[in-house]
Amino acid sequence: MEKIYLKNEEETKEIGYKLGKLLNKGNVVCLIGDLGAGKTTITQSIAKGLGVDDYITSPTFTIVNEYEGRVPLYHFDVYRISSSEEMYEIGFEEYIYGQGVCIIEWANLIEDILPDNYLKLELNYKEDGREMILIPFGQEYEKIVKELLK
Ligand code: ADP
Ligand code: MG
Repeated sequence: MEKIYLKNEEETKEIGYKLGKLLNKGNVVCLIGDLGAGKTTITQSIAKGLGVDDYITSPTFTIVNEYEGRVPLYHFDVYRISSSEEMYEIGFEEYIYGQGVCIIEWANLIEDILPDNYLKLELNYKEDGREMILIPFGQEYEKIVKELLK
């Protein structure tokens, strides 16, 4: 587990962009944090790092939005999901074990169906900025975090 302080939106975007460059097909990033903590903001910059040109908005009503980049990006917002079952109905497993990168806002709501390996990012309000806690599950993600914080 690593902890970093992001004093403004710019710093969040910087780390997100760098993370996007490090991600590859099959990677899963889980975002946890209150409303306004910066989940969508960091997703936008991760997308940039993945080579996505489209502007990313929160897929609150569709649960998942797809974008084309260096690899496909599947952006989930599961805030309005009522049960993990609903995730299977939209084909969650095909996304998770698919050819793209999955970013999941509010992933704590579907913790029971997350894969074994993923990168968990917790964003918390702290002073005027945000604290980000990085928890890698699996060696691949440990390497990514190491590289990210270099
Ligand atoms: P969420 O998706 O978690 O609800 P958003 O990314 O939509 O949050 O909104 C985050 C808001 O907080 C934005 O208005 C952004 O400008 C602001 N903000 C202030 N400081 C930061 C920071 N350090 N990192 C990310 N966002 C920040
Ligand atoms: Mg959001």
